[in-house]
Amino acid sequence: PVAVPLLELRGLRVAYGAIEALKGIDLTVGEGEIVALLGGNGAGKTTTLRTVSGMLSPRQGEVRLRGERIDGIKSHELVDFGIGHVPEGRRVFARMSVRENLEMGAYRFKGVDSADMDRVYTLFPRLAERRSQLAGTLSGGEQQMLAIGRALMSRPELLLLDEPSMGLAPLIVEQIFVIIREINEQGTTVLLVEQNATQALGLAQRGYVLETGSVAVSGPAQDLLADPRIRAAYLGEV
Ligand code: ATP
Repeated sequence: PVAVPLLELRGLRVAYGAIEALKGIDLTVGEGEIVALLGGNGAGKTTTLRTVSGMLSPRQGEVRLRGERIDGIKSHELVDFGIGHVPEGRRVFARMSVRENLEMGAYRFKGVDSADMDRVYTLFPRLAERRSQLAGTLSGGEQQMLAIGRALMSRPELLLLDEPSMGLAPLIVEQIFVIIREINEQGTTVLLVEQNATQALGLAQRGYVLETGSVAVSGPAQDLLADPRIRAAYLGEV
């Protein structure tokens, strides 16, 4: 009697034309978990998230949410399935205010629920202070907060985060990681793509390391952190 995982990838193969980016990935994310997806440049992390959120269709294999096939469903429909995606590079609407960006995140609902707005402003007081400011004028860290906040406005069960630490100062990264933990503790499951492996494994319960489109290693975060070979190969240690 094994519980059905919230997200399950089975034998997932994804290609861009002739380039095979994912060569048969198996991965599960249990309800309530934070799972880290690690690996170097071009390993296939972003491709994995894009496939889960319906931006790409697999050539082979399955994506299941609570046991149900969702591969082939388009990304705007997957929002209604409870999948929120914070893309690489944040992609906030630069010429809209913070508040308008958050409202856009709630597009699956008929109106914007002020409780959702309040929740985001409580998690990110900086956004509350800057609610009328144009998103394009925010710092990189604030834009990352806004991108996460916008995704939360759709009340996702599963939050896909693509390198939230990218290009940010260590102190800001730490703040964002604390908030990711808080979001998780409030009941949202997280699949976290990171180059910043040590910190990501500090947050996650389990991790997967991708190498040229395949899962090279996976296991409990503590085991991955403790394994000297893994430290040398994937955590940038010699
Ligand atoms: P990064 O950290 O650099 O984003 P990643 O692990 O997220 O790396 P992907 O972006 O998923 O890796 O890329 C996986 C492979 O697919 C790489 O070989 C990459 O060059 C290729 N690729 C990614 N996007 C495209 C695209 N739009 N067209 C063609 N090839 C692509």
